Amino acid sequence: MEIYINGKYYSREDAKISVFDHGLLYGDGVFEGIRVYNNRVFRLQEHLLRLYESARAIALGIPIPREQMRRDVLETLRRNGMSDAYIRLVVTRGEGNLGLNPFACREPQVIIIVDTIALYPREHYEKGLAVITAATQRNLPEAVNPRIKSLNYLNNILAKIEAITSGVEEAIMLNSFGLVSECTGDNIFSICKGVILTPAISMGVLEGITRNVVVSLARQHNIPVKQVVMTRHDLFIAEEAFLTGSAAEIVPVVKIDGRLIGDGRPGPITRKLMEWYHHLTREEGVPVN
Ligand code: PMP
Repeated sequence: MEIYINGKYYSREDAKISVFDHGLLYGDGVFEGIRVYNNRVFRLQEHLLRLYESARAIALGIPIPREQMRRDVLETLRRNGMSDAYIRLVVTRGEGNLGLNPFACREPQVIIIVDTIALYPREHYEKGLAVITAATQRNLPEAVNPRIKSLNYLNNILAKIEAITSGVEEAIMLNSFGLVSECTGDNIFSICKGVILTPAISMGVLEGITRNVVVSLARQHNIPVKQVVMTRHDLFIAEEAFLTGSAAEIVPVVKIDGRLIGDGRPGPITRKLMEWYHHLTREEGVPVN
């Protein structure tokens, strides 16, 4: 494995950053998780755009321009020689002192790791996932905006702990109004009376790239999609539900807080979307070579 740090390549053992890096000390930094299918990087431009936007929102100047980052991601992929992979792109605030001041950190660290990922066991894609609603609320957008894909994931991890300790893999997070926002690392969708619904960005969610792909796939196939205010009740009475994310792709949800969704099996629209998504990921994308 060859890991990129600030333009140089290191083995897994030698890829190290300072214990004074504010990414470690304070979760001060941003990241992206990107998929490679069949030697093509899926939605690379969108991920790079979001990375630079997240950085801008936290006043973190990424030391290389977006075009250079794109070239470096592709070069790291070539060096690792994997045709199907998961790219973790991280930019930390860099080395500082033990105080909070981010402006005392002079050199942000740009890290590119290429590896594999399997988020949920295969059977969940066939049988569907059971999820719970977490008691932990999603961060207030006015406090830590979920639109920033930052290294500070404690809010999500607290909800993930609730999921795992309750015997399920994933948790739905509500915002401070008790409305559905998203899951700990995925966006959520439901299908009601044939309409695909997902919480609006203003509900306090990350604008998922997979979420946007699903919205456009649905529109292409003339299935109505709406970005809405969603309650738990709306989920309980849904015909279908599913989660989306670059790592998870599209995963059906068949049980929420002990209530079966539809007939408790992945629904027909979800299965269609999974199929369309699968094809799209193999057809589109930036060629690695
Ligand atoms: N919400 C959260 C909190 C996430 O961390 C992620 C990404 N893992 C998503 C949604 C899905 O985003 P994307 O489709 O861009 O991967």
